Amino acid sequence: MKKIAMFGGTFDPIHNGHISLAVQAANLLHLDEVLLIPTNIPPHKQMHAAPGYHRLAMCKLAAKGWDFLTVSDRELRREGPSFTVDTLRELRTEYPDAKLFLIMGSDMFFTLEQWRESEEILRLAVICTGAREPGEFPRLEQHAQHLRDTYGAACEVLDIVVREVSSTEIRTRLARGETLSAILPEQVFGYIREHHLYLETEEGK
Ligand code: ATP
Repeated sequence: MKKIAMFGGTFDPIHNGHISLAVQAANLLHLDEVLLIPTNIPPHKQMHAAPGYHRLAMCKLAAKGWDFLTVSDRELRREGPSFTVDTLRELRTEYPDAKLFLIMGSDMFFTLEQWRESEEILRLAVICTGAREPGEFPRLEQHAQHLRDTYGAACEVLDIVVREVSSTEIRTRLARGETLSAILPEQVFGYIREHHLYLETEEGK
């Protein structure tokens, strides 16, 4: 059975923490394909966001060289708020015989019960998560057990090498004019430079 994972995010911009989680998940779970899906930006994040077409282009650059990574613009095309449950339903229809996975970092995993139709999400996909900070593994495993016991969810807590990086940190540092080759894929950094993205600080100064 083919194993296909959805990995959604604002990817504003995509960085090495995202790629690292996707690569480690693919290796540990023997995934055939990981779909990187940039979301249509939720209103509370909109102020600082690069437009969807830029975020999509950066995801495509970051995916180059990883043959299991595919970029999908389905949430950008759908417009309106992006709900994971809708995307998973689409994937279920398109890949009726595949086993579906949903990849997310720890911050998202801890809030999963508050997502729209979270119980349906847990029925549709195996949830895979990994730490964003060192030492989070036991708390992740505890929460996974809660989801298993309460909803019969399938959860995989991955023992990954943690990459402590966020898009927020990257946007702040880019606005200060820093060169960020170690935490961004090189082509993504080149694209940001070329298109003059993230030049303003989030305080608007
Ligand atoms: P922001 O700082 O703008 O909130 P972010 O770095 O959290 O952005 P998102 O695009 O919001 O990035 O995240 C997409 C997904 O990737 C989420 O599931 C998030 O938990 C996960 N993720 C982001 N950064 C990391 C990281 N360094 N390690 C593991 N997972 C990560």
